[in-house]
Amino acid sequence: MVLPTGWILVWDLDETLVSGWPNTPIVNPTAVKILELADKARAAGRVEAIFLLTNNSDKDYINAAIVQLPPFDNVMDSTHRSRTKLPSIGNYNGNVSKSLSDVVQLFAEIGVSVAKDDIKNRVLFFDNYPDHVMKDEIAKAHYIHITPDFKAGSVKKDLTRWNYVRKLLGDSKRVTRKRSDHGKRSDPGKRSRRNNLHR
Ligand SMILES: [Mg+2]
Repeated sequence: MVLPTGWILVWDLDETLVSGWPNTPIVNPTAVKILELADKARAAGRVEAIFLLTNNSDKDYINAAIVQLPPFDNVMDSTHRSRTKLPSIGNYNGNVSKSLSDVVQLFAEIGVSVAKDDIKNRVLFFDNYPDHVMKDEIAKAHYIHITPDFKAGSVKKDLTRWNYVRKLLGDSKRVTRKRSDHGKRSDPGKRSRRNNLHR
């Protein structure tokens, strides 16, 4: 049996891909470009799956967002029976954390049986919220912190490491080459000639 080797992209929804709840969702144009790139990489086999894992429970809103985006392989919201609820603490009542178990479940629902160990090195997790369990289950570089929170119309500079993601997805042309890029350690499928020269 040949195990799959592509990247697995797991996306948060609010303040990552869109903003505007409970009104009309307005998409994050930079994130959409990354999703489009991932969609092509999926067709080429470099991406195995693209999932939406949201703590929103408003299915109408989620659907209004999804129709504006490239297709996800599966979607899970906060009402899913498999989500693990955190203890109720003040206003945090009912919130759920995101973990690799959710990704295992997302795969199971599309007929793919995986274990956490099969996927933990291949998950790229995109979220504006920095305290989900999954952040500590994967390599630090593979948690892509959307920062600042995406708010449509905001003029704040987007500091998210999009170039790092573009490079992992094989879009080397659009990467500005600077020392702060972290691309050396983690692409399981491809290693550039430039990196080999530095080894
Ligand atoms: Mg969010």
